[in-house]
Amino acid sequence: MIQITMPLNFLGSVYREIRQSLVDMGEMFNLLDQPAEISDKPGAKALEVRKGEVELRNVAFGYEAERPILKGVSVHVPAGQNIALVGPSGSGKSTIGRLLFRFYDVQDGAVLIDGQDVRDVTQTSLHASIGVVPQDTVLFNDTIRYNIAYGRDGASQAEIEEAARSAQIHDFIQSLPEGYDTMVGERGLKLSGGEKQRVGIARTLLKNPPILLLDEATSALDTDTEASIQDALARAGEGRTVITIAHRLSTIADADRIVVLQDGHVVEEGTHEALLAAKGRYHHLWTRQQAEEDAA
Ligand code: ADP
Ligand code: MG
Repeated sequence: MIQITMPLNFLGSVYREIRQSLVDMGEMFNLLDQPAEISDKPGAKALEVRKGEVELRNVAFGYEAERPILKGVSVHVPAGQNIALVGPSGSGKSTIGRLLFRFYDVQDGAVLIDGQDVRDVTQTSLHASIGVVPQDTVLFNDTIRYNIAYGRDGASQAEIEEAARSAQIHDFIQSLPEGYDTMVGERGLKLSGGEKQRVGIARTLLKNPPILLLDEATSALDTDTEASIQDALARAGEGRTVITIAHRLSTIADADRIVVLQDGHVVEEGTHEALLAAKGRYHHLWTRQQAEEDAA
């Protein structure tokens, strides 16, 4: 009996681990085009997250040597601030997210979290400190409780509800006849894009990461749903360092600072108001998007 149970338990845990990493990968699909061959330094220590300050210091990076994507990019995100990365498609915004997770190593410069180079810490501790709200939340064919609790093993019902409240999905769940026991996913209740996104936010909140990375988290939603999710995201970001990669500029207008990337460089940075007044690159992007929205 023992001989049989032990391997089964072992397989069970391996299975859970594989499934967990598949989900994580799936969730970061937009961020992660390619898994990287990065390993921990011998004797790497766990990242000591104090306040969640993030810094890219003169970072140079390209996926291929002959095509640099970032050519000396410096971005400083003080702990607890909310900064937005904007710029044309292909300008390297998601790449910055991947470097933060150390899916690739920089070719020059450094990526630091609370002063620690991401190359010097264990990847497990690094990944645990950064939460991602993906463009598309993957749901399991299981209860809504299970789907939220996926953010953390052993979460209590009270913690799950608190995360759901912050993600503004608790009232909706309570209104269902079976509440948190409602089956969702392919074979259960079909959730709308916005509801799925809220489940994704709740899942990330349960993980309680000091740093939150939102890579076009709402760009797959219609404008009305996007506006309502923005509130949930704003609450999710309270007390954390937040890096938002935004497609629609109207969603990041109240960021503490907006960083504009182009041709491998930071070309502008400042608040929405300051950047509009400067009548530069951001002003151009903003005016064009406003015109597109008016036309639509
Ligand atoms: P953004 O998020 O600003 O739209 P990305 O950071 O995703 O841009 O990509 C920046 C550039 O890097 C693009 O030209 C893209 O084609 C290229 N790129 C992204 N991922 C890879 C990869 N895995 N291998 C090679 N080139 C890539
Ligand atoms: Mg991108």
